[in-house]
Amino acid sequence: MIPVLRPERLRGRTKLLVLQGTPFCNIDCAYCYLPDRAVKARMPVETIRAAVRWIFDNGLGRDDLTIIWHAGEPLTLPRAWYEEAFAAARSAAPSSWRPRHAFQTNGMLIDDDWCAFFAAHGLRVGVSLDGPAALHDLHRKRRNGKGSHAAAMQGVAALKRNRIPFHAICVVTAETLAHADEVMDFFAEVGVTDVGFNIEEIEGINTGSTLAKHGSRARFRVFFERVLDRAASYGIGIREVRGVLGAAANLPDKEWPGNDQNMPFAIVTVTHQGAIHTFSPELAGIAHPRLGSMVLGHVGADSLAEIVDGQVFQTLWAEIASGLAACARRCAYFPICRGGAPSNKLGELGTCAGTETMACRLGQQEIAEAVLGRVLNEMGRDVVLAKAS
Ligand code: SF4
Repeated sequence: MIPVLRPERLRGRTKLLVLQGTPFCNIDCAYCYLPDRAVKARMPVETIRAAVRWIFDNGLGRDDLTIIWHAGEPLTLPRAWYEEAFAAARSAAPSSWRPRHAFQTNGMLIDDDWCAFFAAHGLRVGVSLDGPAALHDLHRKRRNGKGSHAAAMQGVAALKRNRIPFHAICVVTAETLAHADEVMDFFAEVGVTDVGFNIEEIEGINTGSTLAKHGSRARFRVFFERVLDRAASYGIGIREVRGVLGAAANLPDKEWPGNDQNMPFAIVTVTHQGAIHTFSPELAGIAHPRLGSMVLGHVGADSLAEIVDGQVFQTLWAEIASGLAACARRCAYFPICRGGAPSNKLGELGTCAGTETMACRLGQQEIAEAVLGRVLNEMGRDVVLAKAS
């Protein structure tokens, strides 16, 4: 059954506002899903003000709302622009909002001045690192075809020199799977204390994945088990472990059964042109042959009520809700995964109404098995020890 959504049921639902300061990226990763990464446009500061105002005026915002600057390389914009942008966001939010800004960056442009800026604003920083140079440079390439690892490591050195905390996001490709030890040794050596693993996904304009072949599932499981072993010995936090344990500790909510990517307006993405999207941020900026641009409306022009009643939202939500319901009915992993990501379903199955994808088999099912398998082993060991004592 497709839930009927009224704007009043969405109050305070938005946790994350993704703002695309620019679609431009200074590199050209082979697995990137963004079509406009060569476009050097910039979000007008008035659009930032309108985006934050739209969130709060429509009742979606909450005092712990985080703004993440992403979907383009955020550090290609100058610090002076961000000073204006942060002030605009602050002015458009209620005084109870505790400003929280985050950057997801390729790290290449980080220097001491950027570090001073991060510290001054208490920014949360995530750096995209695919492991040692031999793995990273296979896919994370500059526009001239050369690798980007050396420059990213200079940025990481600046972060460490200035004692700026950061986490890493590592994209796992087929080539990564045989190198769990090298990847974890690299993160330990660099001093990374928290890593998230994204599998190479089929979405947006990235229509293939090196993982989309027979045998990847078993190889990924071996890889991830080894990552967990090495993370435990190095004391490195793994985002996916927290995700599985957090989901296992809380049963799905009856009114809000899905996850942040498939429940409406949990995440709102606003493009540099002020176009509003929700669900998976990866749906923003793509042109799908059947669903079109999936733009719900524009900040400063369309209210939440108009958007929720509109054809684009209704079509998308009907499809996503149908996929969510099918996942809840059929999949044993639903209590952990909560229905997957619409961007993966659309990219792999051609519809958000589907269920299983390569992305969820690896990124949800195998990870859940690995993490929960260890929890059960620990519990069994505790029972044996308790009986023996
Ligand atoms: S693991 Fe896949 S099939 Fe199962 S709930 Fe998640 S998306 Fe649906």
